[in-house]
Amino acid sequence: MQRHWGGAQYDAIVVGAGLSGLAAAIRLRQQGKSVLVLEKTDQPGGRARKVSFDTLEFEVGCNQLGKSIHAMMDELGVRHDFIPKKNRFVFSNKILEFPLTTDSPDTLPELSDLFSNPENLDKTLEELTYNLQPTRANVLRAPFAYFLMRPSEKIDFQLARNFLINDYGYEDPRIPAGGMSALIDSMVKAFQSLGGVIQCDASYEGFYLEDNLKMVMSKNKHGQSSVSHTHCIVSSVDGWNRYPGNAERSLAIGSMLFEMNADFHYPEDVHTIVFVPDDIDAWLRAVHQGILDDQFAFHCFINQPLSTESNTPCKISAYLFMPHNHECNQSDREKIEARMISVMNQHLPGFQASIVKQHFFPPDAYLQSLGFESVVVPRIPPKEFSLSCYDAEQDIYYIGNAVNAEHEQHIEGALLSAKKAVDLIINNTFVCKLKLNEVFSDGKYRQY
Ligand SMILES: Cc1cc2nc3c(=O)[nH]c(=O)nc-3n(C[C@H](O)[C@H](O)[C@H](O)COP(=O)(O)OP(=O)(O)OC[C@H]3O[C@@H](n4cnc5c(N)ncnc54)[C@H](O)[C@@H]3O)c2cc1C
Repeated sequence: MQRHWGGAQYDAIVVGAGLSGLAAAIRLRQQGKSVLVLEKTDQPGGRARKVSFDTLEFEVGCNQLGKSIHAMMDELGVRHDFIPKKNRFVFSNKILEFPLTTDSPDTLPELSDLFSNPENLDKTLEELTYNLQPTRANVLRAPFAYFLMRPSEKIDFQLARNFLINDYGYEDPRIPAGGMSALIDSMVKAFQSLGGVIQCDASYEGFYLEDNLKMVMSKNKHGQSSVSHTHCIVSSVDGWNRYPGNAERSLAIGSMLFEMNADFHYPEDVHTIVFVPDDIDAWLRAVHQGILDDQFAFHCFINQPLSTESNTPCKISAYLFMPHNHECNQSDREKIEARMISVMNQHLPGFQASIVKQHFFPPDAYLQSLGFESVVVPRIPPKEFSLSCYDAEQDIYYIGNAVNAEHEQHIEGALLSAKKAVDLIINNTFVCKLKLNEVFSDGKYRQY
């Protein structure tokens, strides 16, 4: 029989060299498996790397982690320094900072209670919303509403609980030294030092079966194909086509990028600053109804410089959640830029005068330039629906964005999904091969 023995054979092929793909690949190597990572773009990192837009170099997505990142990277044998930085929430008449300190005595007891008793979360948040003064409720709900919001305009309690139960530690933020792309470099080094192989500019195109081996097809940007062989495919490719039709849409992120002159100083100990409108519920309702509310919430952060020289110009990104499929016209852009600059100027003195360059990236431009969306999980399945990491029909293990079983859209969740998938692979290898033999012993051709 004619075989496609062109490429090498690996125990596992991981699709996508984002955080979840790299984490899965390292774990598989740690278990002694031979691993190939296929990455369709020209560099690893996915939504956690830097790119240049119009000579401005910026983080494209993820920029801040929770304190559990130390333990997760230790487990992977990845050596990297993480810097503790604060998350600041700015309200019209109040500032709240995480990690919590005793500086906010009036809100602290309830917030501390929320973090230490996840089982009370639904009840406590509802009581806070309905029984407190609206302004106070806004302050208490904002940290949950802003980062854990869902299309139903209500906080997703399951998601909030996951954050607390899994102890991701986002309430005590960490920034990788040198930024996310530096962390990606450390992960790539760890994987390669274990003998792992990463192929960039190699887009996964599907597989077919031959003698119980998966013939994995990939293409480079010139359309040239190659085939590698494996028993096991792990994929971090967006997987919402596996979600039911009634899954709700999630929100994409628009980004505003600023290069500042050397005189401008961002608060040293702070990473993210969230600007919260007076009525966070009204803003959430508006954005989900497709309205770009005048009082939209947004957050900004400082891009971590690779260089430690003090005169490196500081780069600031500001993100806002955009209404679904919202096409930004010129007046929207002007509205977004004007609000962001005026609000940041009030809070960060001298901001406006220090801008050297600015650039607005609506979600469609993000998709065009990077090849993936500025939203991690575009579809939120109904509550009763749960997506397994192992798809038995396709015989593929899904991780990161592709599964997000609990619909989490952050790094720690992506890393955890990689850990769960690899545990499953190691424990299931025998079962899966048996199943494949049964289903495909007739040599039937299947392609995904
Ligand atoms: C704007 C934005 C801001 C964010 N901010 C934060 C934050 O501050 N903190 C946080 O924890 N999380 C944040 N996130 C979420 C975080 O970035 C993601 O959870 C995480 O990066 C997901 O990693 P991943 O490996 O699953 O997917 P990705 O990073 O998307 O990686 C998938 C990889 O697969 C590759 N790929 C796709 N198709 C193919 C194919 N056919 N063949 C080969 N390769 C393919 C892609 O090129 C990509 O490199 C943010 C996300 C966005 C969009």
